[in-house]
Amino acid sequence: MSAPAEPPLPQPVHGGTCAIVGLPNVGKSTLLNRVLGRHLAAVSPRPQTTRNRILGIHRTQLEPLDPPGVELCFVDTPGIQIGKGALRRFMRDQALNAAGECDVALYVADATDPRGRTPDRFAQPDAADLLAAIAGIPLVVALNKVDRVNKTDLLPVLETWMRWSEATERPAMNVVPIAALEGDGVDRLVATIAEMLPVGPPRFPADMVTDRAEEFLAAELVREQLYHQLGKELPYAAAVVIETFEERDNGDLAIGACIIVERESQKAIVIGKGGARVKQLGIAARQSLAELFRCPVHLNLFVKVVPDWSNAEAGLRKVGFSDLTGGGK
Ligand code: GDP
Ligand code: MG
Repeated sequence: MSAPAEPPLPQPVHGGTCAIVGLPNVGKSTLLNRVLGRHLAAVSPRPQTTRNRILGIHRTQLEPLDPPGVELCFVDTPGIQIGKGALRRFMRDQALNAAGECDVALYVADATDPRGRTPDRFAQPDAADLLAAIAGIPLVVALNKVDRVNKTDLLPVLETWMRWSEATERPAMNVVPIAALEGDGVDRLVATIAEMLPVGPPRFPADMVTDRAEEFLAAELVREQLYHQLGKELPYAAAVVIETFEERDNGDLAIGACIIVERESQKAIVIGKGGARVKQLGIAARQSLAELFRCPVHLNLFVKVVPDWSNAEAGLRKVGFSDLTGGGK
């Protein structure tokens, strides 16, 4: 997806990739959306909302830096977790691959979670692989959701991270408290990361915002509404496939989206009594699609059963996870 071109950045720039990694539900996608000022990545109170990695490019000029131009290429990733099934394996690979390839790793921790907010968490089996993947890479730790934490509780956590950094002799490390939802500390976080990036020519065309096609972003926003509106009733293996995506002569978008579940009983839940739920889903999804694409959207939603798709790689391909080692659809 691209956006109207801004005036090009003076060259060279502080530029490179920054993988946003961490446990599920700590606010990684919220942070990406906040920095980019658009709703690129799906966000929900439920863990494992993000399934694919998504590139989002942030460009800015920060005068204290020399050179001041910044091309910060964030890669949002699924929360790190272990578990069975092809979909979970796919999500884990997406996160670990992005973590191992970036210029700066951004580890987001939930400051409200006493067991998840300190470096001790890396000792658990699910997080240990992540720590290994970023071993030689400059690291920024964002302690998120500080809007819900007392300052007196936060200080010891910051100190624990700094002590850990000294003890492990990492290449470089900074800790920044933030509240991604409201934006507090986010400018400081961006400046901290930018300063750690290498200097060179920009890597992407000036109007490029993400590597994801519009169809992918549309599917993510429809899926986000499923998470919001079905809450605990939502089946883990619900997916969304865009079947049609047409720009009409008047500039409107016509989108046909198919919600895929694994059982007839799940289909009934998504459709709701007399179709009430799928109708509400359509209304809310259409509104967020119109905001993302900045034009009127006509949305047609269907629900389809594909038995057991999430357990086998063939099933994953059927619903759009086409590249099992790289970026998906
Ligand atoms: P991800 O799984 O790490 O990508 O997390 P999400 O971005 O999907 O967010 C998970 C939940 O945390 C959502 O309900 C967000 O609204 C919430 N959240 C994210 N950032 C903040 C924050 O700064 N403060 C508070 N209070 N909640 C947040
Ligand atoms: Mg996410």
